[in-house]
Amino acid sequence: MSTFVSPDLLPALPADAPRTAGSAAAADAPGALVARAEFPLLAADPTLRYLDSAATAQKPRAVLDALADYYARENANPHRGAYRLSVAATEAYAAARARVARFLGVGDADTLLFVRGTTEAMNLVAGSWGRAHVGAGDEVVVTAMDHHAAFVTWQQLAIARGATFRICELTADGRIDLDHLAALVGPRTRVVAFPHVSNALGTVNPVREIAALVRERSAAIVVVDGAQGAPHLAVEFDRLAAAGVDFYACSGHKVGGPMGIGALVGRRALLEAMPPWQYGGDMISLVEDQRTTWNVLPHKFEAGTPNVADAVGLAAACDLLGALGLDRVLAHERALVGQAMARLAALDGVRVHGPSAERRSGVVSFSVEGVHPHDLATILDERGVCIRAGHHCAQPLMRRLGVSATARASFWVYSDPADVDALVDGVQAAQRLFDGG
Ligand code: PMP
Repeated sequence: MSTFVSPDLLPALPADAPRTAGSAAAADAPGALVARAEFPLLAADPTLRYLDSAATAQKPRAVLDALADYYARENANPHRGAYRLSVAATEAYAAARARVARFLGVGDADTLLFVRGTTEAMNLVAGSWGRAHVGAGDEVVVTAMDHHAAFVTWQQLAIARGATFRICELTADGRIDLDHLAALVGPRTRVVAFPHVSNALGTVNPVREIAALVRERSAAIVVVDGAQGAPHLAVEFDRLAAAGVDFYACSGHKVGGPMGIGALVGRRALLEAMPPWQYGGDMISLVEDQRTTWNVLPHKFEAGTPNVADAVGLAAACDLLGALGLDRVLAHERALVGQAMARLAALDGVRVHGPSAERRSGVVSFSVEGVHPHDLATILDERGVCIRAGHHCAQPLMRRLGVSATARASFWVYSDPADVDALVDGVQAAQRLFDGG
């Protein structure tokens, strides 16, 4: 059965205890929020410094156990069988939905749809709601910090429907420019999409303030890409919905769950009125020769055999994070990201992109003069440090930063000050190598 992280693996000090930068200080500083021992991949190699959690998180033992347990004890095709094992699979799937809904602050669990991830969720909203409601002369608004999963999906919908695609610009420190957004949104706006947290800069956006701004000016739907929100912040969807958010999407693999599962949460009235997005088994009510009627929520949007095991794994990850407390997760990441930013910015030739640490989650994107991000990532990899280099699926943002790529380090619950040391040491080593070369 899935287990919670054992409390004695958590450090004694509160996560927001002050931390000092530097290798010497790191030795005394509290370590990870959840011990590396809880993550088999990290436990297997104590020298590995995994700083790419924004791309995907390492998996806690509890999640791996939940997956193995499901397949070993409960595996059957749900919803269709009259035998006990199929009923057990059906119940495990429904319980997983309820657990993920609780984690995301969704009171009505049937308004949480399991999808493959944030990308599929965006395509579902655009393909169903968007195709039904966006037409010529309408406007679709995204931001310059949107991930391609949202940016391209809404751009293509606008092109297909003859709508105008508008992009909200950012402030100099990498936040959504709310004045520009207020100027863009009007009676013709049908959709406003933005990320809860930027994957490239780490900026945490004021979701409720933005939703209120949109509501005051339009009847547009508000679609939040929560791929980088759910792993770090309490989502509380029902509160977001009360402020005007219509849809929230996230990916399981970024919260420590398996790849290939995610969630889309939407307002019931919208979901009920929306046409199905994919057709097949489970999503139907009655199939006649010349017409078909649809199943109730959530099944209407879950055609075919569902991904039960990964839903169960995701629920285990959500239970674990929920028990840990997202406020502690964010405080821990901010402490590390603050250290990393200060130490990187103190190096000659290093430019840190984005806002101050207290406005972001655990992401630091930076550029090192004279060292291409890909070279930097390769040099760090030789030292056992995993960072991401590239455009981070945010080419419009890269253009605005005036770069083609950045280096990005990202922290999560297992990160500790030794990760920051390894990052900064590796950047300095790369600078020495390129200076001497
Ligand atoms: N949006 C953001 C902000 C992301 O960081 C990502 C993943 N990098 C996605 C969307 C897409 O998520 P997925 O690939 O899991 O569908």
